[in-house]
Amino acid sequence: MSSDAITPRTATLAERLIAQYFAANKDQLVVGGIRVDELAKAYGTPLFAYDAGILRATYQALAHALDGFAEIYFSIKANPNPNVAQVFVDQGAGIEIASIGEFEKAKRAGCKPSHMLFAGPAKGEHELRQTLSEDLGEVHLESFEEIEHVAGLARELKRTCPVAVRVNPMAAAQGGAMRMGGKAAAFGFDEEILPEVVAEIKRHNGLKLSGVHMFAGTQILDADVLLTQWVHGLKIASAVAEMAGHALETIDLGGGLGVPYFEGDRTLNLASIRIGVDALKAQKEADAGIRGAHVIVEPGRFLTASSGVYLMQVRVAKSSREERFVICDGGMHHHLAASGNLGQVIKRDFPIVAANKLTQATLGPATIAGPLCTPLDTVGRKTQMPQMKAGDLVAILQSGAYGLSASPTGFLSQAVAKEVLIDDGKHCQI
Ligand SMILES: *Cc1c(COP(=O)(O)O)cnc(C)c1O
Repeated sequence: MSSDAITPRTATLAERLIAQYFAANKDQLVVGGIRVDELAKAYGTPLFAYDAGILRATYQALAHALDGFAEIYFSIKANPNPNVAQVFVDQGAGIEIASIGEFEKAKRAGCKPSHMLFAGPAKGEHELRQTLSEDLGEVHLESFEEIEHVAGLARELKRTCPVAVRVNPMAAAQGGAMRMGGKAAAFGFDEEILPEVVAEIKRHNGLKLSGVHMFAGTQILDADVLLTQWVHGLKIASAVAEMAGHALETIDLGGGLGVPYFEGDRTLNLASIRIGVDALKAQKEADAGIRGAHVIVEPGRFLTASSGVYLMQVRVAKSSREERFVICDGGMHHHLAASGNLGQVIKRDFPIVAANKLTQATLGPATIAGPLCTPLDTVGRKTQMPQMKAGDLVAILQSGAYGLSASPTGFLSQAVAKEVLIDDGKHCQI
């Protein structure tokens, strides 16, 4: 090989995502068959565009990997727009809710209350009364106060309420960006005190201990970590069945399936999950206490993140002391996670592209900022960008989860971003 041979550059995360999910029409990013300049013209910016085709394909890919081992409930906090949730409900998904507001949105998405689970560390009494009186599928109990509340409501409503115990496991799952097992937490009951919890639940006639719920970590990209958690989850379920003295009906193994956000992040390997579930099926089959239970996984992020693009228009392109600034009409008030202020320890860039200049060569790094009067409103730190000017479009990929609803939309009293669903070449504001 001659010394001046060109070494092929490895594709950036943004390039890989565009190849996998989107397309390019000359210089324009194309989402669900629609060019971003058309979307910007039709709706104005800033906007979130979600492609229903990607939502469906992601759901189907996960269902295929689970291979009948588990049902999928969509954790609606990841993207509470009812039109987004409806795509999953239409595929057969249930919904995991954590507030009365999410209950209403899940109903608007077409989900029956009996196909919902209600989790959350401090549910309000009115929230429990409302959901239980509408035949909620299962309440996930997370405190002794809640056992009392639900038992009281069962008496008041003269019904038996199906409940699950949410367990805070002893063993920490490694690999999640945020670990929620093995340490002190506001969520659920510590695994160590389960005998006491089960005994307390059994004291109440109106409570039917039907299941167990675990959720040990979020943004997990390693299939083996996830499978290890699930193995542990089945073991806990088996122990609870023994304590309860009867077989369980549901085992909720939680969400936490991750997606790549940053350069170097891997993609969760669904093929490994597909292989791993065979052993889980065998483990379950061998155990009379859990053999007949429905297993549930309740991902949020994984199901919606890749379908969403946050599209902004450039208002100002300037430099300050040799640094290039591309200042847009959107930012942290719609997309806190991309600004790195949603609990991230290290601020790194989401995949960001010049959405109307995809093939143009980079001019070097730029800071991509939003319109707010605070340096927190920065979504790109050293982002490679071509020459940019007012009117150009900037897109942040992987924006379909924990976007608008997880952002401080009231901050600086800016207008709220629009949301658009694209389905099979048609699009509308949702
Ligand atoms: C947030 C949440 C989820 C979803 O988490 P992801 O990391 O988005 O998959 C699932 N279950 C419960 C109880 C949650 O609070």
